[in-house]
Amino acid sequence: MRPSSLPADAHARQALVIGAGLSGSAVAHSLALRGWAVTVLDQAEGVGAGASGLPAGLAAPHVSPDDNVLSRITRAGVRATLQRAEALLQSGTDWALSGVLEHNLAGKRRLPTGDTGPDAPQDSAHQCSTPASAEQIAAAGLPPETPALWHAQAGWIRPRQLVAAQLQTPGVQVLWGRKAHTMERRDGLWLVTDAQGETLGQAPLLVVASAFDSLALLRPLPGFAVPLNPLRGQISYGHLDKLNDAQRQQLPPFPVNGHGSFISHVPTPEGLMGWFIGSTFERNCEQAPVREEDHAANQLRLATLLPELGAAMQQQFGPEHVHGWAGLRCTLPNRLPAVGPIDSERLPGLWLSAGMGARGISLAVLCGELTAAWLCKEPLPLEPALAKHLAAERYIGKAKPQ
Ligand SMILES: Cc1cc2nc3c(=O)[nH]c(=O)nc-3n(C[C@H](O)[C@H](O)[C@H](O)COP(=O)(O)OP(=O)(O)OC[C@H]3O[C@@H](n4cnc5c(N)ncnc54)[C@H](O)[C@@H]3O)c2cc1C
Repeated sequence: MRPSSLPADAHARQALVIGAGLSGSAVAHSLALRGWAVTVLDQAEGVGAGASGLPAGLAAPHVSPDDNVLSRITRAGVRATLQRAEALLQSGTDWALSGVLEHNLAGKRRLPTGDTGPDAPQDSAHQCSTPASAEQIAAAGLPPETPALWHAQAGWIRPRQLVAAQLQTPGVQVLWGRKAHTMERRDGLWLVTDAQGETLGQAPLLVVASAFDSLALLRPLPGFAVPLNPLRGQISYGHLDKLNDAQRQQLPPFPVNGHGSFISHVPTPEGLMGWFIGSTFERNCEQAPVREEDHAANQLRLATLLPELGAAMQQQFGPEHVHGWAGLRCTLPNRLPAVGPIDSERLPGLWLSAGMGARGISLAVLCGELTAAWLCKEPLPLEPALAKHLAAERYIGKAKPQ
């Protein structure tokens, strides 16, 4: 499918994007690289006000025995993110292609059969992920024979750094402190106004990328039916200088996931080297305060994921050491984002890039590239059959009667 709700002439290559997180900055970057003039509006005063303020997270593949749609899309997304990080970020401080060990706790994470040989397609699951070796399992501090996968094409990223770098692309202008309230189409342009009715911007293309807040903006539009939901999450983190030598030696040399994720040797928001464990999942919550009880949940998570390290680090979860960060993920029922025109017939020029869920680091760059490829009529960055699973228009006609 190739959505085409816009004229392709150069004159029309102006876009307004609402939301300067991973999603909005990725769309802005991809369009600006193709010669578009992009204005990004964000209600906050600077980078990282939403979920993309996450201090550190993982770009890692998802594996499934049948190599399902989510696995294939995530793999394409991780590849796009790692390439973007390589191009824009500083390795070691902003991100690292560290590899990630997945502790297969529930035994569910099986690689698909087939395609394992040297002739396996470049993008196959087996090129990105393999059973973990005995050395990798030992390096994680897990007992021998622990079921685990090694994701070589994976690593940690500090999302704020990626957002900031994408917004610095020539052709991208960011207007901070602008809260979009209303949008309407007049004379072929989308006009965005604030709560006082002041015009914040106008353009033939409007991309809404304001995560769960997109719902409040879009719900008044006729037929809008993308079921965006909030999912609060909290990470707990601390500083390596608070660990003793024995604790420090137990830190795995790469991130470990499988029941939440543990990352270490990454700078914290305070600028010191730190460790991070997350994340909690709380539905039906539209605010994201840091909660004491979530530190306890994350402590338990670490004890399950990496039992020896969890036992060694118990004291680090005391209030004098532990720090927290919480945010709202924006989710969709099938865990795949909604990208592209919302309804090209009835709302021409109104696009969405939202619903990144717990995988925004892995998916937002790909969604930005997909947006730009559709708009510029280029080959898609993933198989068309997969792209259609991301299309926001899959929700057309799904509105519930009022
Ligand atoms: C605890 C936690 C851990 C996570 N860990 C990982 C991980 O390890 N790997 C991974 O891939 N993903 C992870 N994620 C998910 C990832 O952080 C998100 O998917 C991603 O940041 C979403 O980016 P976004 O741009 O869509 O939304 P956001 O970053 O929330 O950006 C939305 C922006 O829109 C702005 N905005 C909202 N309303 C308006 C308005 N009306 N007008 C103007 N601006 C507006 C906000 O200020 C904000 O800047 C995690 C999330 C959480 C909460």
